[in-house]
Amino acid sequence: MRQRRFIPLAAVIVLLFSISAGLAEEPSAAETWICLMCGTESEGGACTRCGTVRGIWRCSGCGSRNLSGTCSSCGMAKDASLDLQAENEDLIRAFPAVRSLAHTGRGDALCRLARYYTMGYLIEQDLVHALSCYEMAGTLGYAPAYLALGNVYDRGELLDRDPFKAMEYYQKAADLGSTEALWYLGTFYEEGTVVTTDYGKALDYYRQAAESGDPDSWMSIAYCYAQGKGMERDLDTALMYYEKAAEAGSHLACDYLGYLYMKGDLVPQDASRGLEWYRKGAELGNSRSMFALGYAYQYGQGVETDLAEAASWYEKAALAGRADAAEAWAGITGGWD
Ligand SMILES: [Zn+2]
Ligand SMILES: [Zn+2]
Repeated sequence: MRQRRFIPLAAVIVLLFSISAGLAEEPSAAETWICLMCGTESEGGACTRCGTVRGIWRCSGCGSRNLSGTCSSCGMAKDASLDLQAENEDLIRAFPAVRSLAHTGRGDALCRLARYYTMGYLIEQDLVHALSCYEMAGTLGYAPAYLALGNVYDRGELLDRDPFKAMEYYQKAADLGSTEALWYLGTFYEEGTVVTTDYGKALDYYRQAAESGDPDSWMSIAYCYAQGKGMERDLDTALMYYEKAAEAGSHLACDYLGYLYMKGDLVPQDASRGLEWYRKGAELGNSRSMFALGYAYQYGQGVETDLAEAASWYEKAALAGRADAAEAWAGITGGWD
């Protein structure tokens, strides 16, 4: 249940590295700056790698180069331009802005920089620096950084699993206001690995998380009712909470309700209601719902078979990150060029 969503471990590492390597260890490093064209940490008046003069930036609005704080062609502010650039899906384009913002101590940028460090992309792979980027961002009060550290120790993908440390970091994130961290804390009480199982406490955490804006947490409450954890099994109440989660905007709940109605599990089988929930899930960005809609149109489940419609849902699911959807899309359309 703790794998409900994947938090990109991306952002914090580079900034921390710059700061620890530069400021802490070498006194002269206070003079370092990040080249806004290539992302190299430089000293002096021009980038040591690409030669760009210190402070020159490319406007994300119109593409022109500037030195002052406002674009002379379109009027976009440098800060706004850097923010846009840092969010670019293209990792190469985003990198200089991410590293520069991280260098100035921005929590979100530190977290993104951590991703470059963990991947070893455009910068040498360095897990220690990645972790320090997250630490620094957390110290600066950026809750998602502690959440990311919780995930690192919880999942054990980058280093050995350490659920005790994971719980500590989730607690820190919760203290900084992360509703998702409250949900994670609830799972520890539900599972009883680090602390003694206490379904009452688990439900308290889930409810707190849900009421402070994490709709997926209603699902965990539903699950406790469906499984009879710490209470009598109560499928009607479970279903009520699944619907509550879906209405609060949980794409996971919409997808799950779609599945329940298609299968006739907990509810009488009803393909058209199932497809309705899948559509809601897809609207909220759930890639599994998109895939399920493709499948329904391909095999005529609750709808007339329509291969063009199926291909279009598979394509959406692939664009949302599902490799199996790309395979299914290729199967219908004849494949990649
Ligand atoms: Zn450069
Ligand atoms: Zn401009």
